[in-house]
Amino acid sequence: MTSKALIPVIFIILLILSCATTGPGGKTSLILIPSSQEVAIGNGMAKQVEQTEKVLQDTVWQDYVNSVGQKIVAVCDRRNITYHFTVINSDQINAFATPGGHIFIYIGLLRRMDNEAELAAVLGHEISHVVARHGIKRLQAALGVAAAYRLAFGGDNSSDIINSAVGAGMNLIFSGYSRSNEREADKDGIYYMTKAGYNPQAAVTMFEKLAQLGGKGNSNIFEKLSADHPETEERIKNAKSEIKQTQPLPPHLILGTKYYQKMKKRLLLLKTKGNHPKK
Ligand SMILES: [Zn+2]
Repeated sequence: MTSKALIPVIFIILLILSCATTGPGGKTSLILIPSSQEVAIGNGMAKQVEQTEKVLQDTVWQDYVNSVGQKIVAVCDRRNITYHFTVINSDQINAFATPGGHIFIYIGLLRRMDNEAELAAVLGHEISHVVARHGIKRLQAALGVAAAYRLAFGGDNSSDIINSAVGAGMNLIFSGYSRSNEREADKDGIYYMTKAGYNPQAAVTMFEKLAQLGGKGNSNIFEKLSADHPETEERIKNAKSEIKQTQPLPPHLILGTKYYQKMKKRLLLLKTKGNHPKK
């Protein structure tokens, strides 16, 4: 066999070897782009987000979101990458994750919360998108096999290909995930937040609150959880039945904390910038 003829064989072997754990219960998926490249793309995307959005200049809140996020990371099924949590100083009701573990949450969404478990619900959902590799899977599909192959094997132009992947990834971020991706992140998020010691009922209260806020002209609602979005009711119903299935819930699950109340007061005193992301 010539070395050229070997390439497809290596490619097939790589496909077989690229089954990554993507969720609880030993769930795996075929991922061609290795974690190291995914992290490089995610880092590039995070840099762009930080250039277009105002990062909140309050280390107390940044540290707090990070501490809640890391509690969930500690029990998730993808712990071999570093997760970064960043609060954006904008009154948008939004949160999202880039591939590779950068999670952004907006003050507008934080202000809608009433306890720490609701924060854990949102972060658990975003962490689940990263664990399930939803972002990189979509990017893999958008870039096509040839680009995914170059990302997997590197080469002279690998920084060019990462740059173009960053651009493609930024476009995908604002177009939203598929219904099945959202269903999976909702389910896994509830599982992880409970495992981290938070009351999963907070996922339901958070979803319901956002559903009420929605409506015409309010398209910036987190995860399209708005009253005029057809999936919203189904997602709330699924969250309720997911919690029912995990009964009896472990004892002493956290809902609110005294520290959260202190942080909420601090949040209400912070000045928000009404900036919106460039799409
Ligand atoms: Zn989502």
